[in-house]
Amino acid sequence: MDINKIREDYPLLGRDINGKPLVYLDNAATSQTPQCVVDAIDEMYHCHKANVHRGVHTLSQEATDRVEATREKMRAFINAGSIEEVIFTRGTTEGINLVASSLGETMCNGDEIIVTQMEHHSNIVPWQLLGQRKRITLRVVPVLDDGTLDLDAYEELFSDNTRLVAISHMSNVLGTINPVKEMIATAHRHGVPVLVDGAQAAPHMAVDVQDLDCDFYALSAHKMYGPTGVGALYGKKELLERMMPYQGGGEMISTVTFEHTTFAALPFKFEAGTPDYVGIAALGTALDYLNELGMDAIAEREHELLAYATERMLEVPGMHIYGTAQNKGAVISFLVNDINSYDMGLLLDKLGFAVRTGHHCAQPLMARYGVTGMVRASFSFYNTHEEIDAFVAAVKRVSSMF
Ligand code: PLP
Repeated sequence: MDINKIREDYPLLGRDINGKPLVYLDNAATSQTPQCVVDAIDEMYHCHKANVHRGVHTLSQEATDRVEATREKMRAFINAGSIEEVIFTRGTTEGINLVASSLGETMCNGDEIIVTQMEHHSNIVPWQLLGQRKRITLRVVPVLDDGTLDLDAYEELFSDNTRLVAISHMSNVLGTINPVKEMIATAHRHGVPVLVDGAQAAPHMAVDVQDLDCDFYALSAHKMYGPTGVGALYGKKELLERMMPYQGGGEMISTVTFEHTTFAALPFKFEAGTPDYVGIAALGTALDYLNELGMDAIAEREHELLAYATERMLEVPGMHIYGTAQNKGAVISFLVNDINSYDMGLLLDKLGFAVRTGHHCAQPLMARYGVTGMVRASFSFYNTHEEIDAFVAAVKRVSSMF
């Protein structure tokens, strides 16, 4: 990878922050957007803006073609079996809520859902909301000290009442890449479907939903170099066909009378209302961009950045890194001595470094480690060794102020 050339795709990376060159290390929260994706948004507004799926006129067909082309690109990107299994959403959160609402309808009082202690709130709260309606209990896979899951405990959580497993592919805090393929096989032996939260994994590694054999996979475009407000949910066709629509409205119907409505075929049954067709079209460009770089090359580059950054950060006196799994994505969450994560983050910002602080939408995981927050540096292929060196020097400098 020619990183200098790649960085030219991202004008924002050339910005100054507080008079210092920006070092953007908040990629797990949202990635930056290459110029080609911004151009695709611009082109949609300038040339093809018309509502999709309902117009016979040329503009509408052009917009529809772009949306449906992205559906096919997303299908190929995650290797889904058919485009009927690719539903556009607002993001991972909406994908999970869709399943919680719709599959949740089929659950009963006393049912159980298995989640893990490292889940993002968006893979906890939708199940709790469902639990309030249906008296469903969450069973939680513990996290071990190194940030991996206790897989023996996982096996023991299954009961006759288990209806779903909902697990993240990669932790947004610990970076741990969970052995989801094995965990899915275990769940299937118990006859239980699995939803995978792919918000963190999809931008960083090749995902093959058929190989994983997951039943649902949710992801967000804004973490994948794409636009905000768009995502996708993969679902196995036989499950989606049995599920009721998530929302009602235009686009998701076949016929409507005041007595009775029949629903559109998949995937439209789950896409009520006007979608973010501009964003979806631009997501297609982001997928082209990722394919051009190559997901394996991205994974390799980020793995190398992670190894270098980890080694260098351990030079900082008082450094504690949370999450030391062998199989780990390019995320380093840490605390230095007892320095508050917000204080560290604010001072780093003064020096031009964008990092995340606080609970990272994973309060149960913070409780597991007995802290209220951590500082998180999360890397993308466009980050450099020089940025890591500068970051380590800045963390040392800030730490010495306390
Ligand atoms: N799951 C994980 C693991 C995440 O890291 C995030 C976002 O940070 C989400 C879910 C929610 O994603 P979104 O806000 O794009 O819906």
